Amino acid sequence: MKTSIYSMALAATLLVSCGGAKKTTADADKFSYTVERFADLQILRYKVPGFEELSLKQKELIYYLTEAALEGRDILFDQNGKYNLRIRRLLEAVYTNYTGDKNSSDFKAMEIYLKRVWFSNGIHHHYGAEKFTPEFSQAFLKEAVAGIDSSKLPLEKGESIEQLCELLLPVIFDPKVMPKRVNQADGEDLILTSACNYYDGVTQSEAEAYYDALKDPKDETPISYGLNSRLVKKDGKLQEHTWKVGGLYSAAIEKMVYWLKKAEGVAENDQQKAVIAQLIRFYETGDLKDFDDYAILWVKDLDSRIDFVNGFTETYGDPLGMKASWESLVNFKDVEATQRAELISRNAQWFEDHSPVDKVYKKEQVKGVSAKVITAAILAGDLYPATAIGINLPNANWIRAQHGSKSVTIGNITDAYNKASHGNGFNEEFVYSEVEKKLIDSYGDLTGDLHTDLHECLGHGSGKLLPGVDPDALKAYGATVEEARADLFGLYYMADPKLVELKLLPDENAYKAEYYTFLMNGLMTQLVRIQPGGIIEEAHMRNRQLIARWVFEKGAADRVVELVKKDGKTYVVVNDYQKLRQLFGDLLSEIQRIKSTGDLKAARLLVEEYAVKVDPALHREILDRFAKLNLAPYKGFVNPKYELVTDKNGVVTDVKVTYEEGYAEQMLRYSKDYSPLPSVNN
Ligand SMILES: [Zn+2]
Repeated sequence: MKTSIYSMALAATLLVSCGGAKKTTADADKFSYTVERFADLQILRYKVPGFEELSLKQKELIYYLTEAALEGRDILFDQNGKYNLRIRRLLEAVYTNYTGDKNSSDFKAMEIYLKRVWFSNGIHHHYGAEKFTPEFSQAFLKEAVAGIDSSKLPLEKGESIEQLCELLLPVIFDPKVMPKRVNQADGEDLILTSACNYYDGVTQSEAEAYYDALKDPKDETPISYGLNSRLVKKDGKLQEHTWKVGGLYSAAIEKMVYWLKKAEGVAENDQQKAVIAQLIRFYETGDLKDFDDYAILWVKDLDSRIDFVNGFTETYGDPLGMKASWESLVNFKDVEATQRAELISRNAQWFEDHSPVDKVYKKEQVKGVSAKVITAAILAGDLYPATAIGINLPNANWIRAQHGSKSVTIGNITDAYNKASHGNGFNEEFVYSEVEKKLIDSYGDLTGDLHTDLHECLGHGSGKLLPGVDPDALKAYGATVEEARADLFGLYYMADPKLVELKLLPDENAYKAEYYTFLMNGLMTQLVRIQPGGIIEEAHMRNRQLIARWVFEKGAADRVVELVKKDGKTYVVVNDYQKLRQLFGDLLSEIQRIKSTGDLKAARLLVEEYAVKVDPALHREILDRFAKLNLAPYKGFVNPKYELVTDKNGVVTDVKVTYEEGYAEQMLRYSKDYSPLPSVNN
């Protein structure tokens, strides 16, 4: 599971930009956190503090793992849509070889479109999943393509430029072709109406029946069915095309294995060595039992300073929530900052025992809730350029229950968001009064981080499924319910005196900063990320509106939370913070029941009633107010660049990290140096 910045209470202050495209935010040491701004996006960069102090061997290990990470980029493009790689290559060819006027409005618009394709790893919005609209003409693109040496174009054998354009132009320009990457609309065939490339020629009911037949309800250690394959209907028969060495995406996976073997050679200890070896094995066999063995080894490796995620991990991109997009994160532990998270983890049992959840749904023993603050060294695949700020893995429920899970928050990424966000005017516009503003100024940073920690370290790890309940029972509603569960667990405890007692919060008022910003975000300000007339589809956004709308409605009689008008503008007002806490507890209890019993009907009702629909008038107002601030709703990052330093005998003497690379520069370098897959992957 991932925590995105939008799930933080501080989303408000994190939704940031400096306004102008050229302006940069400078640190004391002149580090520039902002790179550029276009469309609804802002590109930032992050520092990797502490890298220089690592040992040479540790740096080398990070270097090999980052190389393995970058080799997977093409996989995600192809997973997100079957034409994405070809479209990216076509546009890059035009971008770098165009001989016409590069200042023309068509070329400029194409440049922005390409930057968006890079950002989204495909032609659909990275967050909303809708196809974005090009603002250059078809005629321009056709002519530009025709003027380029055909050896530079992503042509298949025997294919003409004409045919290539005929194939790709409708995908880019026709709003009716592949309009959504992931469709979650209730009642439609979610597979046929989704453009993601996880299924081919298969209907939703066929896919569901296929996997239902594989599952043994009595199996207490089930593999993650379908996680690493495309389900294809061929000659009337369903078959899985597995992503592995020798299978689908082999060229990229072979490269990863090459670098992982190098990493294995410089592992910090035997445990870590075994983790890497088992990952290689999984990539070679594609056997999901091997994946589970890897996950178990990985979750137990707690002593290594360096850690990584590398693989088919999160299932948000599959409308059925089974198939995982590829991602990688290489990181090392931030020892000092980890102490806070460790304190929470040490008290995990206390939190489990005292939660408002019915006893039958609680874990008698909360196991292995490890938590740490990490420093990201590279972001890749589905964590690049847009990234989570918190991660909790593995995802398999039985592994979490029997072996525990690792929770991390990414300290240097959160820090970069914060640093780039000072004084952007967002709170001035949306926060009700000086009282709330003062709360947020005094406590907001702290409570935002703490809520993330509680969500990751405790929330996802709490509670249990009743025996025999299918972990996928909540189907398309599973992700929203799971995120709501984790958020509510954190929200409920934010206001608990225990946090002051543990010195995690300075006083009994601090939590209010989190409650206020959470509701402001869930009821109003997150709507800035929805197009006019749209509905909420993304799981984290659904979760936040679900919680906010539910407590708003349930507390209406007591006026716990209100939406009030001041000078024609709508604001959130919290009248009773303690009652609000009770309501969070009530909803947590119900959400845990739904999860524990697999109550799909209740999940659907709750989500469809509270999480999806948008009040059009309020939405319009929020969009208008937000537009005046001229802020970018979404952020992403360029990575640092790592280079091996060797002596004249080729012996590695150091690894150098630099931060100068620009956005397009980095993307073009990745496309040149880390692009092993063919354009068509069948
Ligand atoms: Zn989460």
